[in-house]
Amino acid sequence: MPFIHGIGCSGGVDFFLLNYHLLSFHKGSIMELALISPAKATLFGIPTVVFSLLIPLIGIGLFIYIMIRRFAPLSNAAPDNRFDRIPERILQLLKIWLAQYRQPRYMLAGVLHIIIFFGFRVLSIRSASLVIIGFVDGFTPPGFGGALGHGYAMLKDYAATLVLIACVIAAVRRGIFKPARYAVPEKYGHDHTAEAVFVLAIISTLMISESLYEASLVAAQAQKGMAAEYLAPLTLVWLFEGVLSSASLSVLQGIHLVCYFIHDLTFFFFLCFLPMGKHFHVITSVFNVFFMRLDKGIIKPVRHGVSDEELDELESFGVQKLEDFTWKHILDFYTCADCGRCSDRCPANRVKRPLSPRFITIKARDLVFKNYPLLGSPVESKPLIGDIYTDDEIWSCTTCGACEQECPLGIEYIDKMVDMRRNMVEEGAVPQSLQKPLSALEKRGNPWGIMEKKRAEWTEELEEEIQVNVLGKKKSADTLYFVDSISSYDDRMQDLARSTARILSAADIDFGILGKDERDSGNEIRRFGEEMLFQDIRDRNTDAILNSGAERIVTADPHAFNVLKNEYSDVPPVTHISQLIEEKLAEGKLRLKNVEDPAKVYTYHDPCYLGRHNGIYDSPRNVIDRIGNLKRVEMTGDCRDRSFCCGGGGLMLFYEPEEEQRMGVIRVEMAKSAGADVIVTACPFCLVNMEDAIKVSGMEGKIEAVDLTELIDRHIDNG
Ligand code: SF4
Ligand code: SF4
Repeated sequence: MPFIHGIGCSGGVDFFLLNYHLLSFHKGSIMELALISPAKATLFGIPTVVFSLLIPLIGIGLFIYIMIRRFAPLSNAAPDNRFDRIPERILQLLKIWLAQYRQPRYMLAGVLHIIIFFGFRVLSIRSASLVIIGFVDGFTPPGFGGALGHGYAMLKDYAATLVLIACVIAAVRRGIFKPARYAVPEKYGHDHTAEAVFVLAIISTLMISESLYEASLVAAQAQKGMAAEYLAPLTLVWLFEGVLSSASLSVLQGIHLVCYFIHDLTFFFFLCFLPMGKHFHVITSVFNVFFMRLDKGIIKPVRHGVSDEELDELESFGVQKLEDFTWKHILDFYTCADCGRCSDRCPANRVKRPLSPRFITIKARDLVFKNYPLLGSPVESKPLIGDIYTDDEIWSCTTCGACEQECPLGIEYIDKMVDMRRNMVEEGAVPQSLQKPLSALEKRGNPWGIMEKKRAEWTEELEEEIQVNVLGKKKSADTLYFVDSISSYDDRMQDLARSTARILSAADIDFGILGKDERDSGNEIRRFGEEMLFQDIRDRNTDAILNSGAERIVTADPHAFNVLKNEYSDVPPVTHISQLIEEKLAEGKLRLKNVEDPAKVYTYHDPCYLGRHNGIYDSPRNVIDRIGNLKRVEMTGDCRDRSFCCGGGGLMLFYEPEEEQRMGVIRVEMAKSAGADVIVTACPFCLVNMEDAIKVSGMEGKIEAVDLTELIDRHIDNG
């Protein structure tokens, strides 16, 4: 091999020496090299291959060390079986992680993220190849030697260009326009913009250095009259090659090697930087989405692997300190990208309650990093309430599920809230206003403490021809109408129970109720954290339901619907009244008249426990639309799975945390802005809150609220 002179630097120091004509990987092909490759150059007399080997060795070694330290809290956490239903998990992974399904819900940020995400996937092959090229001269990934390599080269050049553009737009957006949802209120610590922009700068450095590394080589090839790879127009590398085309070979050589090592160092710095903060999601998101919950509407058991019968043997209930969370929940903390979508959609945050789900996660992640330092021994964890959270923060959650629906990374909140509440209940740290309803639920099976025998009194005001039998050992019916507490006892909500009974009767359904044997369904009790009371109530209701002999259950209360359907076992199938009305309309067993007042505009409010938690969005709409001449509008952007919670879930009727505005008022304003005169809902809790909101906001006479059962009852036309 002939010796070729080095290209000197300004100080006359022998800078780069080319020992022989090189053959190297370039754009998937083996070709004669115009420049010295990083595997063959020398710097100050030291072969650069030494750096090409040392940088990955140190980088990977450090990364493995950091990951082992980061794994420690997961191994100390509570168990959780997330290795079940693998095919469903794979599908979820493909949809939510790979296809980035939830990202476009926030269009600009989502599209930018999709570009960076796919750019990273495409460029990962190139980045890995570049690392190897540093010590294996002419390395080509298997299969990339021919047309595939050329195709890939073009793809990755466009990917790098788009990623850089996306980074610039994201940095301008984040650093200059500062969207409100990224703001960090003072009580939650310092602003996160600097870290976000720093990471965008790192990614940009990777894109630019890779493109310059390649552009310098192609420019040198062109200057030497060698066959140069075709560069796709309008790519970063194409642009750089144009700029560098007249640069001297020594400049091109310098750029080539310097950019290689900038890329190498940045790549491994980034790898080790990722587990230090919010960008850990680049590594953990694939696992977090794979292991995310598959079912909605259910609360996790007190402890995975411990049956209800064994609960008495547990030393403590729920989550008191960090390690009481499950490993999946700690993985959630690692995975949060700090995008703020959860808090943006959180009704509690919107009305300025002391809760922002994003900071539930971020505060916990900071605590994990603090308690499990990279150097030294772990610190003993303190109780979370009082350390990083306040009581009100945890009680403020309505369990509406908007945060989980929005999170693009499968981060869970409701189970964490309930787990922390379980521990607070055990410690006796229950808000004063909730103590009375809880004790009443224990004694009388309803939060008002009204006698059980009065549970069926709402039937007394029904017309004579509407027969509502109380079912039990002596009397049976096909369908059990599960009324639940609020519609049984609240004067106004009893109207809903009566409307439901009229609808069932009009549809010629053989039905009855449990009367004094019915207890509260327990949906809120479980979400409140009173697990033992919930189990007692569930078991009593289950016995009563089975004694009724009914073959199906119908309810007009989405909270009852949710818990009976998802958290009771061995009970007959459960239907929401909207589904049953839809079915009976289709069968022709129920007919509806034209709307009473065609001038009025209606809108439908999706109750959280019917929509988000159970996916029933269409039945209520279909039923409303069957009323002739009824004009219905959507609260676009705030409907279906983006419905805004009325504030009624999780025993919130009895607990009023500090807030600037009522959730119900915001919801009524949304309906008004959509042009509605009437809000139709399908949940007694929603109706209580909407009617209350209309009163307190002075909108009486301008807008009204009605339950779906009442609306249908008024429009029944069965001849
Ligand atoms: S469940 Fe609803 S109220 Fe609770 S944190 Fe999530 S969005 Fe907020
Ligand atoms: S929990 Fe999810 S939605 Fe909320 S900030 Fe983190 S990544 Fe974003």
